[in-house]
Amino acid sequence: MAKQKQAMVGSHLSIAGGYYKAADSAGGYGMPTVQIFTKNNNQWKAKPLTQADIDSFKQAVETHGLTQCCAHDSYLINLGSPDDELWEKSIEAFEIELLRAETLGLMGVVMHPGSHNESTPQEGIDRIIDALNRIHAKTDGIKVLTLLETTAGQGSSLGYRFEHLQAIIGGMNDQDRVGVCLDTCHIFAAGYPLGTKEQYDATFKEFDKLIGTKRIKAFHVNDSKKALGSRVDRHDHIGEGLLGIEPFRFLMNDKRFRGVPMFLETKKEVRDGEDMDTVNRDRLLGLIEE
Ligand SMILES: [Zn+2]
Ligand SMILES: [Zn+2]
Repeated sequence: MAKQKQAMVGSHLSIAGGYYKAADSAGGYGMPTVQIFTKNNNQWKAKPLTQADIDSFKQAVETHGLTQCCAHDSYLINLGSPDDELWEKSIEAFEIELLRAETLGLMGVVMHPGSHNESTPQEGIDRIIDALNRIHAKTDGIKVLTLLETTAGQGSSLGYRFEHLQAIIGGMNDQDRVGVCLDTCHIFAAGYPLGTKEQYDATFKEFDKLIGTKRIKAFHVNDSKKALGSRVDRHDHIGEGLLGIEPFRFLMNDKRFRGVPMFLETKKEVRDGEDMDTVNRDRLLGLIEE
């Protein structure tokens, strides 16, 4: 249990039936944190949060002693879009995501930076910078962090090179508003090797040089079904994919990341009577050498 608290391994859990349900599930697993969607992730519209939603969620978070809980933003949002209408709609939607997360007392909103579509990568990055500066100015004074997620680089999505995130953070008027959520599956699919200690160290050295490891406020801990550099995003259970178990051993024993929340985004399934969220969490905790 001490190891577990220290390691901060949680999961993305369902809010079906109420926000507090996700916090209760985390508590049921004995997890110290949780990631949620604060609205349906495939729809633009969201019912406003009620006071009962907020109170019951906060109560459950407190009851289970959860900390550093996060939201993941809607997949529809694209702050890098060259299309003005979609871009404005995305700005409005992400502002709402931040406000909902703030109201629920969450630590951050993990977001995919955006896709440049038919424009250039640089144009996409400039759009993302403009959008985030506008959103942050409009939500001045809130505490919840915007967590830029490292992506696998599918299609024209940005954020699969550390340089993209470096440029976005560098363009922020208030850099204290942003952090990074590093997804192990995504960076591997994007072409950053992690399989040996030398590769793991080199990848994080590169990250540290360009962005700074202190900027990492959350991890997504997922194995990858797709190969190094494939730029295809398919999560696998811990140790069962092409990353294998070793990168997770390096990560779980990396003292720089003690206390940083790590969220599983692996397939929800029961295998031989065992819930895979429990299995994956136990695999990670079992790697800690102390
Ligand atoms: Zn992720
Ligand atoms: Zn993914």
